[in-house]
Amino acid sequence: MKKLYLSILFFINFFSFAQTSDEIKLCFAIQGNSFSSDRSADIALNKILSVTGLSKRFVLAPCSEISNCLAISYKGIRYILFDKNFMDQISSKGNDWANLSILAHEVGHHINGHSIDVLMYSEDQVDRPDLESLRQMELEADEFSGFVMAKLGASIEQASQAMNVMATEEDDTYSTHPKKSRRLKAIQTGYDNAGGRVPDQYKPDKSKISVEEIFNIAESKQTSKDYIGAINEYSKALNMKPDYTYAYNNRGFLKYQLKDYNGAISDYSKVIDIDPAYPIAYYNRALAKKNLKDYYGALNDYNNAIKLRPDYAIAYNNRGNIKFNLKDYRGAIMDYTNAIRFKSKGPVKIFTNRGVSKELLGDLKGACSDWKVAARLGGKNAQKWLLEQCN
Ligand SMILES: [Zn+2]
Repeated sequence: MKKLYLSILFFINFFSFAQTSDEIKLCFAIQGNSFSSDRSADIALNKILSVTGLSKRFVLAPCSEISNCLAISYKGIRYILFDKNFMDQISSKGNDWANLSILAHEVGHHINGHSIDVLMYSEDQVDRPDLESLRQMELEADEFSGFVMAKLGASIEQASQAMNVMATEEDDTYSTHPKKSRRLKAIQTGYDNAGGRVPDQYKPDKSKISVEEIFNIAESKQTSKDYIGAINEYSKALNMKPDYTYAYNNRGFLKYQLKDYNGAISDYSKVIDIDPAYPIAYYNRALAKKNLKDYYGALNDYNNAIKLRPDYAIAYNNRGNIKFNLKDYRGAIMDYTNAIRFKSKGPVKIFTNRGVSKELLGDLKGACSDWKVAARLGGKNAQKWLLEQCN
């Protein structure tokens, strides 16, 4: 039963982008400062790619809004979005063939060049392929999956396990997905081909490196803390794709780490020029401005971040701190209250700070009740003040 639950997305129409695009955008919007690479995802993907000698020509991005994984192209970049639990299952259980075959299917969409940009779809800039073409794409992805499973040592039963559970034999004339027997046959074809040489279309085009590959190199340098090297790679990616907001955002993040706050601000500003609805860029730029003691500039950026994302808990908390520094205690209290409401990280500090703000407005009773919560959560200052000022 668990398998069924994990695999629901497999049958969400690969091309129903208009429907899913908001969700996907949301997913990008809620990512942290950067797409930090995820070990279990890398392990699972490398396993699949190892059988063809392919390099990772797409960007891996965690997305908790989906139930397993999804091949997608967004703003001209190819992604595999994945749910962390799903990837953990694959890499920890050794050979979780059902999930591995689903992942291989999604990779197969990219390998076969199926990924059409989600934005172009949702904005009606490209025509939707007809149903027969869509079904054909599914079969190609299934075939790739069968091929990979065989190369990895699965039996044909194991390679077909997920499909057997999920697909139906209903008439597929009006469906984007072919019926079960056709899909099983495609898996079988791929499986049988694995005895021979790797088909040409699965082989990497070594003549040119993709922007996604450069992004991946940058990211792995970032993970191993080679920040200068990573900045150089992001710059290369930006030369190839000047509107690559994620690369600007990540490069800005690295400059921030290296305390080049002006450099960071200029990268985040680039992101905002290209995509004014990018809350993380405002948030990040606010952090950099604050380090340059530009409090009003930071305040303005937090305002925009929160306008775009009204439950942006950590942004409320940080804006509260700025207001506190500017002696706007009432404003700070309101922001801390929202930070608590939306469950920001660091509740001890938030309750402590809100307590101090209340104290400074002469509301000692309110202050004590906040410090009581902070003290219960282990806040040392709050414990001290409780003893000294509250009874
Ligand atoms: Zn598919």
